[in-house]
Amino acid sequence: SSFAHFGFDDKLLKAIIKAEYSTPTPIQAQGVPCALLGRDILGIAQTGSGKTAAFLWPLLKHVSLQKPVEEGEGPVALILAPTRELALQIYSDAKKFAKVICAYGGGSKWEQTLALKEGADIVVATPGRIIDHIKGERQISNEMFELGFEPQVRSVCNHVRPDRQTLLFSATFRKRIEKLAKDALTNPIKITQ
Ligand code: AMP
Repeated sequence: SSFAHFGFDDKLLKAIIKAEYSTPTPIQAQGVPCALLGRDILGIAQTGSGKTAAFLWPLLKHVSLQKPVEEGEGPVALILAPTRELALQIYSDAKKFAKVICAYGGGSKWEQTLALKEGADIVVATPGRIIDHIKGERQISNEMFELGFEPQVRSVCNHVRPDRQTLLFSATFRKRIEKLAKDALTNPIKITQ
């Protein structure tokens, strides 16, 4: 299939087949190669466009190049979602392809803490709850987060390591997102669905 052009490993290609995706969506076709190059991306894409996979698959490649996360270590990647519903939606999609933890406000903090302690490559979270975990238990205190958090996505973006790769996807491109993108992304490639 045309997914082969992305250069994914067999494990991911098999998972994509298992998910019964036959071809990349436009946002995937454009976004995945750019993300694999390490570029920041500003993606404007509606729900149903396949944007979750567009950022998730390149992230998995990144994760697979790292040594496996061990107990007590922080995650390689953090996916922030504005609401619990969106976090859970991303989580259920991401589970098809990787070992993920979901940490959202309203979920059992104790269970999330245990999961974080065990260690995972990828955490899907709402910003408030992830800050909660960091301030409370310090389970995610690797270098990715060493500069601390404030209870907003903007603050998270401002404080994670500056050499991070950042992929920002939004269904809308209003002034506030435009401003956030300017501050959080470095020389991004803009992709509109
Ligand atoms: P979203 O990520 O919110 O844009 O939603 C995309 C939806 O389409 C999810 O339910 C995915 O499981 C599904 N999906 C993602 N990529 C593909 C693809 N290449 N082919 C078919 N379905 C896909």
